[in-house]
Amino acid sequence: MSDPKCIFCRIIAADIPTKKVYEDDHVFAFEDTNPQAPTHVLIIPKKHFAGLKEAEAGDAELIGRCHLAAAQIARERKIEQGYRTVLNVGPGAGQSVFHLHVHLLGGRPLTWPPG
Ligand code: AMP
Repeated sequence: MSDPKCIFCRIIAADIPTKKVYEDDHVFAFEDTNPQAPTHVLIIPKKHFAGLKEAEAGDAELIGRCHLAAAQIARERKIEQGYRTVLNVGPGAGQSVFHLHVHLLGGRPLTWPPG
């Protein structure tokens, strides 16, 4: 369920301090330490799995819950004019932490396509 070597599992367990934004039975959200926008929140499932590539059918609800938490945070922060949810999948896309996470980015104009 959790991996003691995973930095995000250690954040959930409060072994590593973080600025918590949201938590429920399934999902945890916290401020990114290297924000790329005025709002940059990471939303993660409490269950450890490496990323979208490694997700299984049984993880579908958890992935949906992460996105619904992102939408709720965006609503609370009043950034609904335009925000982005991003999953970096694999090192070639910039994934550096191998515990699935949804980036919520907003609070500034977001250009397309992303780099
Ligand atoms: P990714 O590159 O998509 O794997 O995203 C990983 C994100 O985790 C990056 O945006 C990092 O800034 C962020 N990050 C890494 N360590 C921490 C931490 N201890 N607390 C909060 N955010 C972190």
